Amino acid sequence: MAGKLYLIKEGEISLKGGNRNLFEKQLRHNIKNKLRPYHSDITKQKGRLYARFGEEVPEALIEKALKTTPGITGFARAHKAEKSLEGIIAKAKEILPSSSFAAGGSFRVTVKREDKSFPLNSHDMACELADAVFSLFPDMRVDLKHPEHTLTCEIRNDVYLYTGEEKGEGGLPYATAGKGMLLLSGGIDSPVAGYMMAKRGMKLDAIYFHAYPYTSELALDKVKQLASIIAPYLGGLRLFVVPFTDGQLHIRDNGYEEEATLMFRAAMMQTATRIAKENGGIAIVTGEALSQVASQTLDAMSFTDSMTELLVLRPLVGMDKEEIINKAVEIGSYETSILPYEDCCVVFSPKHPVTRPVKEVAKRHFEELQMDSIIDEAVRNTAVYSFDPMGREIKDEN
Ligand code: ATP
Ligand code: MG
Repeated sequence: MAGKLYLIKEGEISLKGGNRNLFEKQLRHNIKNKLRPYHSDITKQKGRLYARFGEEVPEALIEKALKTTPGITGFARAHKAEKSLEGIIAKAKEILPSSSFAAGGSFRVTVKREDKSFPLNSHDMACELADAVFSLFPDMRVDLKHPEHTLTCEIRNDVYLYTGEEKGEGGLPYATAGKGMLLLSGGIDSPVAGYMMAKRGMKLDAIYFHAYPYTSELALDKVKQLASIIAPYLGGLRLFVVPFTDGQLHIRDNGYEEEATLMFRAAMMQTATRIAKENGGIAIVTGEALSQVASQTLDAMSFTDSMTELLVLRPLVGMDKEEIINKAVEIGSYETSILPYEDCCVVFSPKHPVTRPVKEVAKRHFEELQMDSIIDEAVRNTAVYSFDPMGREIKDEN
């Protein structure tokens, strides 16, 4: 079949026993879904997926899709060759001139011969292919340890040739491990937290507490931009924007100043729990890391946990800020996260926050704030934005 063929490696999925089919099926669905409306055809063969796309699908689009899809450890544009020595050499000579080999330098040939009935062994086939390389690029040299270019030939039922394998995200396909709600602020941490849980198979929506005009429209735009950046790793997401100005003011005017952040976090938990449950979520994900700020002590986290019956996941809990920043740079969220617009926690932060709340006391104080009707109202007025698996905002959902 004409068109573009990609060979995809699955990593951890291949360790799955009885459930392997389920994971593979989901991964295939995730890839296809990402590249809609283009048609794609994905088949599997012993630990590999083979994805075929029409000639009209841009290579850059396919590569962005595969690079950001958890469950893929590596992929390469592959070319099917006729299963004979002459056929393989002819195909190599056809593809090499438009590959990275054209830049010259060092190379190696790797032959994986799974079909032992193929007449040449791996070593001999590799030598034949190296000769083909030299016939096109006489100045190139072989370097088996640190080659600049690699030509791989896989001899299975069919024969495939590829150069230049790209690394994938690894992990497991999203939507294989249940649904959760990510608390997404405009900071560095929460986008990374969402990415990490999606990479372990969770399907996530996100929720942002907006305190307009104390936090500006620009802060909301920034969160929407972050949602769009992480969307490809999550397979798209909905962003619930909860107007929480009244809630913040109520806490500020009726609570103890040093407990303001804690009370806000309790209210966030309760609100997120309601919206998560209405949407099938069974866990809440936050970007907290132990002791990073006053509200991220064990006592504070233990208190906020007690405000929800859902499981609270904090994938960054044991990470240093620098490690989190490195991840943020890798996934492309860092530059947006450091834009200056403050989020609402900062605006309403007390000067001397309690770091070691006594759970029962904090709970009583939260109850005394009687926030039920404010939370009801905030949930009623929540706006929803949707992002597709390539990160584009979907404008006309209704
Ligand atoms: P981040 O860098 O993710 O903003 P942070 O270091 O600023 O985190 P906090 O402001 O204490 O830390 O927030 C801790 C976590 O609480 C965030 O990672 C996020 O999951 C959640 N959170 C904080 N503010 C909001 C908000 N306005 N809307 C939604 N979630 C929030
Ligand atoms: Mg923050």
